[in-house]
Amino acid sequence: MKITGADAYLCHFPLPEPFYPSWIPAFPQTNNSLLLMRITTDEGIEGVCAGIGFANEWKGFPDLIRVFLINRDPFQVEEAVKILRSAKVVGFRAWFIEIALWDIIGKATGQPIYRLLGGCRDRVKAYASTGELRGIERRVEDVQALLEQGFKGIKLRIRYPEMREDIALVEAVRAAVGDEVELMVDANQAWLIHGFGSYPVWDFKRALATARELEKLGVTWLEEPLRIRDYHGLAELRRATSLPIAGGELNEDLDDFRELIGRGCYDILQPDVTFSGGILMGRKIAAMAEAAHITYNPHTWTNGVGLAANLQLMGAIPNCTHCEFPYEPPGWVPEARDAMLTEPLWIDGDGYIKVPDKPGLGVEIDWDKVEAHSEKI
Ligand SMILES: [Mg+2]
Repeated sequence: MKITGADAYLCHFPLPEPFYPSWIPAFPQTNNSLLLMRITTDEGIEGVCAGIGFANEWKGFPDLIRVFLINRDPFQVEEAVKILRSAKVVGFRAWFIEIALWDIIGKATGQPIYRLLGGCRDRVKAYASTGELRGIERRVEDVQALLEQGFKGIKLRIRYPEMREDIALVEAVRAAVGDEVELMVDANQAWLIHGFGSYPVWDFKRALATARELEKLGVTWLEEPLRIRDYHGLAELRRATSLPIAGGELNEDLDDFRELIGRGCYDILQPDVTFSGGILMGRKIAAMAEAAHITYNPHTWTNGVGLAANLQLMGAIPNCTHCEFPYEPPGWVPEARDAMLTEPLWIDGDGYIKVPDKPGLGVEIDWDKVEAHSEKI
């Protein structure tokens, strides 16, 4: 089989309401923006992938990647990994391209990807991952609405100027929901986006003091308390608290994860296959983590194609416990997050999300909708 083409669609799907992500302070996000690519082959099998966008920064990339992909065998995934590593030299972090090859491999073999890579589970416990910093009263109401919809766990953002505000929020939510509901908290300190509004920058002492308070509140994990490669600080923090420490969503490639695992930085690793190296890289990192008794719960906050790709990895690995389900109504809802799919992904009656079981990624693209909201480049 040979790759014959790579169609690229620069998409901007409108959100029903503006969404204010805590990780881009004071920025109203109005679109779900992404580069969607369709890789075609001489046998008529096609694979899709998608990488997040902000403005139109992907414009030159499709021409570059076509030069390197066309005429290659899509089953030679390690070749693609080398190409994508090379693309970083000229500034493109495009690991998501590798996902389209797995979509092709799955369709060619008639299997969902997770069954080709380990076949560990067909559904994963989901938690609702919220995204905004809201007032305490509103957040408590929102959390109650999420529980009514069937979620058994909720992730809160703690990124208020003062630590006491972070703790007050978690305390109020814990008091409202009781001890049974799993609460995760994300400080998003590993990659700070500068430019629109102010944000707190945590040091080791704030991270440790926060962790000690959260221990008492029975929090499931504290995510990204320190800088992305503060290996020393993360390892010290992990040793100093019984609270599980999570992170690694934007780390990438084997060397980086060798350090995070080898130095004992995290209890839970969260590489996202669209950012961190692709599905095969994710499978390798999962094995390294498994050997060190570390959990691997991927970050998924991108779009429906990215969520499906990470779900395929979750289905394949033994050391995954939870699936992040990005959901913050009224702005960030499944219909907008998964606008490129024929059907948005949702949870079952037990609060689990099914690993799509059709061949490849297991999801279908709504091409009419893609064409209506994109520019072909
Ligand atoms: Mg996170």
